[in-house]
Amino acid sequence: MSNLSQIFGSNVFNDAVMKECLPKATYKALKKTIQEGLPLDPVVADVVANAMKDWALEKGATHFTHWFQPMTGITAEKHDAFISPTSDGKAIMEFSGKELIKGEPDASSFPSGGLRATFEARGYTAWDCTSPAFVKDDSLCIPTAFCSYTGEALDKKTPLLRSMEALGKQALRVLRVLGNTTTNRVITTVGPEQEYFIVDKKTYEQRKDLIFTGRTLFGAKPPKGQELEDHYFGSIKERISAYMKELDEELWKLGIAAKSKHNEVAPAQHELAPIFTTTNIATDHNQLTMDVMKKVALRHDLVCLLHEKPFAGINGSGKHNNWSMGTDDGMNLLEPGRTPHDNQQFLVFLCSVIKAVDVYADLLRVSAANPGNDHRLGANEAPPAIISIFLGEQLQDILEQIENGGATSSKNGGNMEIGVTTLPPLPKDATDRNRTSPFAFTGNKFEFRMCPSSASIAEPNITLNTIVAEILNEVADRLENAADANAEVKALITEYVTNHKRVVFNGNGYSDEWVVEAEKRGLLNLRTTVESIKALISEKNIAVMEKHAVLSKVEMESRYEIALENYIKTINVEALTMIEMAKRQILPSVIKFATNLAVSINTIKATGVAADLTAQTELLTEVSSLTASLKKNIAVLEETVEKASNAHGDTYKQASLFRFDVFEKMIVLREVVDTLETLVDKDVWPMPTYGDLLFNV
Ligand code: ADP
Ligand code: MG
Repeated sequence: MSNLSQIFGSNVFNDAVMKECLPKATYKALKKTIQEGLPLDPVVADVVANAMKDWALEKGATHFTHWFQPMTGITAEKHDAFISPTSDGKAIMEFSGKELIKGEPDASSFPSGGLRATFEARGYTAWDCTSPAFVKDDSLCIPTAFCSYTGEALDKKTPLLRSMEALGKQALRVLRVLGNTTTNRVITTVGPEQEYFIVDKKTYEQRKDLIFTGRTLFGAKPPKGQELEDHYFGSIKERISAYMKELDEELWKLGIAAKSKHNEVAPAQHELAPIFTTTNIATDHNQLTMDVMKKVALRHDLVCLLHEKPFAGINGSGKHNNWSMGTDDGMNLLEPGRTPHDNQQFLVFLCSVIKAVDVYADLLRVSAANPGNDHRLGANEAPPAIISIFLGEQLQDILEQIENGGATSSKNGGNMEIGVTTLPPLPKDATDRNRTSPFAFTGNKFEFRMCPSSASIAEPNITLNTIVAEILNEVADRLENAADANAEVKALITEYVTNHKRVVFNGNGYSDEWVVEAEKRGLLNLRTTVESIKALISEKNIAVMEKHAVLSKVEMESRYEIALENYIKTINVEALTMIEMAKRQILPSVIKFATNLAVSINTIKATGVAADLTAQTELLTEVSSLTASLKKNIAVLEETVEKASNAHGDTYKQASLFRFDVFEKMIVLREVVDTLETLVDKDVWPMPTYGDLLFNV
């Protein structure tokens, strides 16, 4: 590798490149568009497109693509060559401003949740010039938003951009009314920590469940799991290290500031965290990161698993969405400073977030729901499905003071005594960490820890931005209309603390006591995707999305439909995969094993030796009875899937059938198979075991 500063961003059409290759006037016009969110002049677009094309050709690109994020949750791209034939039989490379700004992919095969009938296939992609273009796999990729002919958002980016605007607008109003005259823009910032598993490719290829569903549907516990806690932050193995090194380099080329990497809690599990950036860029970057993670793994004969729960019995993967609000003049609005108790601005923003999270807990919960995450939330490895906020000792103390009449002091961390005189005294943070909270204040940002590892971070951020915008809107309205703004700020903070402190919880979120306590406090515990999904269409939630022009009622309803359909399809594929594996791989193997046993028993008997055959006989009896149970449970699952699949009409009811009928039967079938796995000869077992998958890289 050449030096890092040379490769960083080398495949990105970033500000430095634009400055270098665009005429001054064009550069200025484009910058203005980017910074102020103005429409782009077509003449400027032509010049930019041409410069972009020349730059991309130099990087070896032959194609361009509008890169977008449909509701599938992954990115989509359709590549067009720059080529344009000339009359003399040759070709020139062309790329116009029109092609840069707008694309028209056939939209009919992307999920729209009823927004667009298949015959109305027209969809448009529009350049998001606030996220830079880049070259990937010989294509110039142009980040775009994707919408229907009638203007409805068909993607995750459009509402994300709208939500950022909504928050920016309201936050600025609050700043102004608090006396700030210098800030011009407020944006939200995000740093997503990405967890993932790495397994050997050859082993992976022998598991149909991993191939079709991304997770193991069967698998007995290996003798060793994560109990020794020897993997977390452990020294990284050479093969993994080589993978991570190449991954970092590929991400750096794309301008993604991959910063930290380490082993995670579970064997074969790892984490990557970038330096935070503007939310829409962070979202694009996270999509790219997941894509590059998978591709680079294959080059090392490895497979990267992004599923939330690839293996039962050990930790699954999540994504920690670190979120804050920043200003164009360099402020972090969630920075408490040394004496947060008298930092009025900080307290206003903090309390607004608290109120937003309490009032819209259901919307936040559903923003982190997917079928994979149902295996994690509330399962003592990930935060519970109950939304609560961890603030830490210092802020908790300040809130209590506020509630009791006014805050006059801030607890400080002081110094830490390590008891070794040669070590320097370490200043202590004002607050310890808490790993069990779904929404934790971590110094100068909130960390939303419920997010699913495989999903886009667009949804959680659309939600956060919008619900906080709503409360800031209320704050701004009240302060702008108050006779005495100072008194009103105090009243407002006290009111928010008093009315919404129920959502603040600093204890152990994994404990059973918390579930009971949360219920007493009236907090929601929406355990599964199906149970949380109605939040997408509740009146209150549609109202907030519509009010801030983030999503319309129709768009919300379509998202609700898409999420349900996705749930149904996912569980259906899982169930069918289970059935196929059980019928065609597992059943034949256990029959073979039983036959071998029977042959052995008969052969020994035939010798006439009075050998003790109880071991073989007992094993044969046990395996045979489990085999019968296996056969029966396959049939039960088949029947249940068929019934659920045929239950058309009401998507919600159908999804409930898949959750509370099909899914439950899958658990029963799995138990039988996993018990058989522990009894049957390893050589006969038709697929690699957990031990093979987790400990062979
Ligand atoms: P930890 O494992 O302790 O949670 P990491 O360093 O792994 O911490 O991740 C913290 C993440 O938070 C990083 O991606 C970092 O860039 C991000 N972050 C830091 N400050 C902000 C901020 N103001 N806004 C958004 N994200 C932030
Ligand atoms: Mg974290």
